[in-house]
Amino acid sequence: MYSLDAEDMSKNETLKNLYLELEKVKAEAQERYNQTSIAIDQADIEKRLALSRHLLDFADFRIDRKWLERLFDEYVSTLRRFEGSKEVANELDQGFKRDELDPQILVKKVFCADLDYLKALSRKLNLKVEDLVHLGLRLGTPVFELHAEKLKGKFDPATWSKGYCPICGSPPAMAYLRHDDGKRILWCQFCGTEWSFLRLKCPYCYNDKQETLRYFFTEEKEAYRVYVCDKCKKYVKTIDQRKLSDYESMDLAWENLESLALDVLAQQDGYSTPPARAEV
Ligand SMILES: [Zn+2]
Ligand SMILES: [Zn+2]
Repeated sequence: MYSLDAEDMSKNETLKNLYLELEKVKAEAQERYNQTSIAIDQADIEKRLALSRHLLDFADFRIDRKWLERLFDEYVSTLRRFEGSKEVANELDQGFKRDELDPQILVKKVFCADLDYLKALSRKLNLKVEDLVHLGLRLGTPVFELHAEKLKGKFDPATWSKGYCPICGSPPAMAYLRHDDGKRILWCQFCGTEWSFLRLKCPYCYNDKQETLRYFFTEEKEAYRVYVCDKCKKYVKTIDQRKLSDYESMDLAWENLESLALDVLAQQDGYSTPPARAEV
């Protein structure tokens, strides 16, 4: 069981402020993004849908370098304004200037969860792997979300019954039980897509034997559950919206960061999340 003391709470508030600042940076970057460069190949989409494949391959994306580098600069200068993240900002900036950190490559490596690459780079830059993953997500998601947006209406998410994102093939980063009907909705942290999936089935190995599926929660935060599968030893953090009064304003990207303590608990018990997107 975990509890927040005063120091944790002030840290949490700083984290939230940083998060909100980075959300502004993201919205501005999306405004600047050349939306005409988003080409949707309808024939390819039809083909993929017929094969139950996800619709886009973000791993092959070439994001405009100038746009990306401006976003990188803004990310670093936002981090610099927060006491606890100054060091990280400096290391990132230095790494970029020494040509050791390439934003374009980083986005791809984070998307593909290339842990060997990320570990080696984190040693080189004197940073944590989490710092690099955070940056990679902050650089990639604005573009991935715009692409996913364009595909809305091109397919019916209700016909999708897989445990990975229908748009980009990534495993879910979080889930929630919908307020109105209790349906389980999975969420992709790369493109923001949500899709429904059976509650009593593991989204990773499709195990549906109830005796090997369970969830736990902490005393303080009853609405925050961790669903675990004892067959594949994976977990997914899940928010029960029916236990939240302010569920309408729920922001999963923030919830994912804020509920790190649950990841720690699950990992202590020997569960993990899939490192890479599904091979489909
Ligand atoms: Zn996705
Ligand atoms: Zn499983």
